[in-house]
Amino acid sequence: MTSPWPTEAPTSADRAAFADAERRPYWPQTLPPREPHAALEQVIECDLCIIGGGYTGLWAALYAKEQAPWRSVVILEGVRCGAGASTRNGGFLQYSLTHGIENGRVRFPDEIRTIERLGTRNYEELSVDLDCYGIDAEFEPNGELAVAVSPVQVGQLRETATLLEEFGQRAELMDQDQMRAEVHSPLYLGGLWQQSGAAMVNPAKLADGLRQAALAAGVQIFEHSRVHRLRRTGVAVAAVTDAGVAHAAGVLLATSAYEPLVPAVRRYVAPVYDYALMTEPLNQSQVDSIGWKRRQGLGDSGNQFHYYRRSADDRILWGGYDAVYRYGGPVGPDLDDDETTFARLSSNFFTNFPQLEGVRFTHRWGGAIDTCSRFSVFFGRALGGRVVYALGYTGLGVGASRFGGRTALDLLDDRQTEATGLELVRRRPVPFPPEPLRSAVIQFTRNRIAAADRTGRRGIWLRTLDRAGLGFDS
Ligand SMILES: Cc1cc2nc3c(=O)[nH]c(=O)nc-3n(C[C@H](O)[C@H](O)[C@H](O)COP(=O)(O)OP(=O)(O)OC[C@H]3O[C@@H](n4cnc5c(N)ncnc54)[C@H](O)[C@@H]3O)c2cc1C
Repeated sequence: MTSPWPTEAPTSADRAAFADAERRPYWPQTLPPREPHAALEQVIECDLCIIGGGYTGLWAALYAKEQAPWRSVVILEGVRCGAGASTRNGGFLQYSLTHGIENGRVRFPDEIRTIERLGTRNYEELSVDLDCYGIDAEFEPNGELAVAVSPVQVGQLRETATLLEEFGQRAELMDQDQMRAEVHSPLYLGGLWQQSGAAMVNPAKLADGLRQAALAAGVQIFEHSRVHRLRRTGVAVAAVTDAGVAHAAGVLLATSAYEPLVPAVRRYVAPVYDYALMTEPLNQSQVDSIGWKRRQGLGDSGNQFHYYRRSADDRILWGGYDAVYRYGGPVGPDLDDDETTFARLSSNFFTNFPQLEGVRFTHRWGGAIDTCSRFSVFFGRALGGRVVYALGYTGLGVGASRFGGRTALDLLDDRQTEATGLELVRRRPVPFPPEPLRSAVIQFTRNRIAAADRTGRRGIWLRTLDRAGLGFDS
């Protein structure tokens, strides 16, 4: 056995730790309350209609106004801006556009140097944008620390370190003693601290700051305005909601894992649920007991991995491990809660930090991830090219969504850039098979991934998928 995670059922103490937790994301409660923007209840015309008010849509709106301040830009958001993954995530802001350098190198070997350079530029510009737009997203550029919890992972971290350095990132390998001195867990066998190109943010403050910046730039926002249908109307496209219609010269779709408005998207995206727990604020002796003074984002290095971080008020967010795909790929508020997954997360948390026994979780939530087979954002066009979409970040979109939103707008405006010429932007992922095969393949793959973590060996099925350039991740 190479995995340190318990195989026995979670205990009653593991379950009690999250029993009273609020069933909603923690992050929005760090924002001041605000009234929703009015819903669309009339027929309007605009130059650009953006559907979806998460990071992708909001970055695209800001960029549209930077490019042409006179252009009329409207956002139609089905719930509230940031209601999707953008206020549910861990707040790990990574420079990588390809879900990590290893994945990018395998899938785009001829252009990985350019992609890495564009990713670094996107990360740097994003941090400048936060200053320019006055967005206080609790940006902490402390890097990301990948920990090894099995001997196999120690070797993998060494390879990643070499790769990161080759591509110009600063990375420091830690042996078992150094790692345990940095963050106190009896499970750690080593670590890799990526010191550049990685920061932590408060996800809700980022989304809300972008919303406010977009408003200030003159973007019009409608909330509780779910678009049901898109249709061609001469030179324009009509986006139809319950009570209104927006006629736009161009439409940018930023709807992530939600029900696609363009049928082709369904082939490429499998909505996979990821879950997280947030502890109560730790007291001083609990904080002292874990070390972790440099507040990096942490993640273990298995195929099924946990990600965890400290919040501004010294809670710990602990998420990941199980990625849950359900038949047909439904997305909705009733799926935000999953008792079995929370129990497993709680049990693993106390295995990782036994000194925190007795700590309670105050929040529990889940969110849908727009998983695609290459793990990185892809783009496409519909309705004669007047609609462009960007999605598929597969759980690493906090930073990449700025690139995604801006590149989608460049495509819509027919602006040639270094990015729009890349295979990364022009090529779409290998599609998932339709149901019922889709569920069967995904569940079998998840089963094999769990086995690989237990045994340290990738079996025939995973190696075949690797060779075919196919994957499944959260
Ligand atoms: C639990 C979890 C943890 C994660 N952790 C990280 C992390 O630490 N680091 C990282 O880089 N990434 C992480 N991610 C991924 C990251 O959050 C996403 O990649 C990113 O937020 C995607 O932004 P988006 O704007 O494309 O999508 P979303 O934020 O999901 O926005 C899509 C919006 O479109 C709206 N919408 C959908 N359909 C319609 C319609 N028909 N009409 C109108 N509006 C519509 C939705 O209401 C939603 O607000 C995580 C995701 C989850 C779920």
